[in-house]
Amino acid sequence: MSISRRNFLRSCAGGGGALLAVGAQPWAFDPLQVDNPLGEYPNRDWEKVYLDQYQYDDSFTWICAPNDTHMCRLRAFTRNGVILRSEQNYDHDRYGDLYGNQATKAWNPRGCPKGYTMQRRVYGPYRLKGPVLRQGWKNWVDDGCPSLSDNPELRTKYKFDDRGGDSYVRVSWDQVSKYIAEGLHAIAGTYSGPAGAKRLLKDGYEPRMVDMVEGAGTRVFKFGSNLPIHGLVGKFGIYRFANLLALLDHHVRGVPADQARGGRDWSEYTWRGDQAPGQPFVHGLQASDMDFNDMRFSKLVIQVGKNLIENKMPESHWLNECMERGAKLVDIAPEYNGPSSKSNYWIGVRPGLSDLAVLLSVTKIMLDNDWYKPDFCRQFTDFPLLVRTDSLERLRPQDVQADYQLRDISAGPSYKVQGLTDEQRQKIGDFCVWDSDANRVAFLSRDDVGEHMQINAALAGTFLVQLTDGKQVEVMPVLEMYRQHLKDYDEQTVSEMSGAPAELIQRLARDIWETTQAGHPVSIHTGEGINHYFHATLHNRASYLPVMLTGNIGQHGAGSHTWAGNYKGALFQAAPWAGPGVGSYIHEDPFAPVLDENIRITHDHMRHTTDGEEPSYWACGEKTQTVELPNGQTRCFTGKTHMPTPTK
Ligand code: SF4
Repeated sequence: MSISRRNFLRSCAGGGGALLAVGAQPWAFDPLQVDNPLGEYPNRDWEKVYLDQYQYDDSFTWICAPNDTHMCRLRAFTRNGVILRSEQNYDHDRYGDLYGNQATKAWNPRGCPKGYTMQRRVYGPYRLKGPVLRQGWKNWVDDGCPSLSDNPELRTKYKFDDRGGDSYVRVSWDQVSKYIAEGLHAIAGTYSGPAGAKRLLKDGYEPRMVDMVEGAGTRVFKFGSNLPIHGLVGKFGIYRFANLLALLDHHVRGVPADQARGGRDWSEYTWRGDQAPGQPFVHGLQASDMDFNDMRFSKLVIQVGKNLIENKMPESHWLNECMERGAKLVDIAPEYNGPSSKSNYWIGVRPGLSDLAVLLSVTKIMLDNDWYKPDFCRQFTDFPLLVRTDSLERLRPQDVQADYQLRDISAGPSYKVQGLTDEQRQKIGDFCVWDSDANRVAFLSRDDVGEHMQINAALAGTFLVQLTDGKQVEVMPVLEMYRQHLKDYDEQTVSEMSGAPAELIQRLARDIWETTQAGHPVSIHTGEGINHYFHATLHNRASYLPVMLTGNIGQHGAGSHTWAGNYKGALFQAAPWAGPGVGSYIHEDPFAPVLDENIRITHDHMRHTTDGEEPSYWACGEKTQTVELPNGQTRCFTGKTHMPTPTK
């Protein structure tokens, strides 16, 4: 049956009218009166599921210590001895040191989802729960560790050339210790003495590397560790073990204890590239690596190729505090990353050397506008030091005064605080500046800084100097050299080079100066070393220039910093007043261990049987950095201090 639209509406109206006529109203049933809906809800069992999930019968605090070095203190909640979850502990304000210094609540919160889920890895199916041996390696030891150098085909038999294709066998702790000992004993024996050297040469190692073995087969063992601060005993224990291998050498070669050699230590910080190599060039310290709580004082935070939000997770809250406290944030990076989205402005640059060019352009703008503090530059930087323009080497006092004797600074801070040695003193020498008042060269030592630097040293111009051999040479302060060098780095040119907008380069230079003028600290945070920058030496210096010019060094919230958390290692460094530091554990004399717990360990108890080695040479194969010169000769750029031994 078909029904028209008109008839349909009419019938609906009729039905409605009928309902109204009998007084029944479909919406008019009595509403329920419920004072507390949760109290009345018929079935609340489901809540128990959630309550149960959060129930615990115990808890403990622990330190999360992966490679990221943040070392967050977390609290784990357990039930029946099993961790259910981990959370921030929110108790940093209760931390203090032996001197009574106390952290603040501002340190909270710390942690990240990786730390909070650590228990999944602890209990997960892929956790290694006991020692395993590669099957082929085990077979090799079971067969008496035959020399692979004498019988290269054995490398295939025992899968030394196909380790990824081999399988693993589970062994007990006692077994694995025995296997390792047998392996070490055999390798040390195989590569000791003239016979060992012959084998290494036959294997194709360069003679200069074989010479570095110095007859001790233990020196073909290499030991590397993760960041030691993650657990000194666990991580640095491997270096102690390397030192102890002098006992093995003593046993294998039969040499007297004082001639016995241990293994070789791979550096744990520099080779991965975390070390900013240009920073020692700037200030003589290994790195300017600070705790991020200091950032809280900054009023201008400049991140250069650094992502403090996504890569330094528990530290990113300091940036929130900077914003709350009125600081400006600036980000220089190729990508519009996390920090960019939180910054006042983002200077987008092309990957490569672009950020370096931006920093140089900023420096040029500051110099062109006299936006710098001359007194700070004179007292605390190398900007006034004179350089010869003929050789581009520093002018030395001996160049202008034949009988010059190095100043006696043996009672000064270089010796007394920084531990300078006589040998280093000779190498570093003294320096020259141009005394603008006396209009002649003046001499100074490395201790003439701050208030001890009273010379009105020139920061601009060129000067003629008479050398002891009668020759006249032109000299100029380092800052003048920058003025000339940076002529190429005007913001338009740098904008073309880097892709950074010229007006933002200009704005950054102005912000640095105006923040400084307002009496506020400026900090620049760069990525780490060569793991972030191919030209890290240049980059590190460039990132220092604006803060050197403006005196943004040595005060809270200021400076140019990398961050690898390595500063924590300084707590365990040796010092004349503190003793051997972590060395008392690593380099305890293997032949005369200190067994009396009441003895204070000193350097006299130490014996280094190991040498450091830089595994970055592996980047070009296990060989030295030797190149053929255009004249047909070869030259080895690997110096004696960095000469590797073959690795077995
Ligand atoms: S940031 Fe995360 S992974 Fe790193 S130490 Fe802290 S909790 Fe652990």
